[in-house]
Amino acid sequence: MIRDRQPCVVLTGAGISTESGIPDFRSPTGIWARYDPMEYATISAFRRDPVKVWEFYARRFEVLTRAEPNDGHRALAELERLGLVRAVVTQNIDGLHERAGSREVIEVHGSIRSASCLACGTRVPFEEVLAALPVPPCPACGEILKPDVVMFGELLPAGAIERAEGLARQAGLLLVVGSALEVHPIAGLPDVTLAARGALGIVNRGPTPYDRRANVKIDDGAGKTLSAAVAELRG
Ligand SMILES: [Zn+2]
Repeated sequence: MIRDRQPCVVLTGAGISTESGIPDFRSPTGIWARYDPMEYATISAFRRDPVKVWEFYARRFEVLTRAEPNDGHRALAELERLGLVRAVVTQNIDGLHERAGSREVIEVHGSIRSASCLACGTRVPFEEVLAALPVPPCPACGEILKPDVVMFGELLPAGAIERAEGLARQAGLLLVVGSALEVHPIAGLPDVTLAARGALGIVNRGPTPYDRRANVKIDDGAGKTLSAAVAELRG
């Protein structure tokens, strides 16, 4: 299907990065089993108590900076090099797709690459944020910076969403990898592709709401499955 249903657009979620040691959010061992998202991941929690929210992010950053891209990230980068993947739309903020070599990456939930000042708009790169932990201040005005990840209660970046929807509409194949398709509006991208008569493939451990409408569903790990696909397509 990757070969026959071009262009292929990929949508990835937390499940592709668990093999890099990054916990997902909703599973029993996920981040929300230990941290109440209402206390740590909403924009109102951040405005109420940014110090507490930064404690949470400082711990996550430790995990995220240690993590390396895995076979799944590398396979998608290779498929792009082979001209078989047009773009990767990702819900992940870890930057591992780019580090694996993917070039067309749309980060719909933002990324840890930078933090911004809500008061004056100054943007600070990740290395400087790391150096200023535990509570990084804005170098221009002194307010506490906010990580450039989309928190609950914030709008998703409009430009990224528009691009993602455009890609989903043009996709001959939308390949969903490691997402349970639970977080909207991104979880609705398969509808966009299917309505435009594109095909849907899903590689995910566990069920998704789209399993019955998918042309193919593979209930297995991303690294193993995508590596096998690359080997087959190279062959
Ligand atoms: Zn500022």
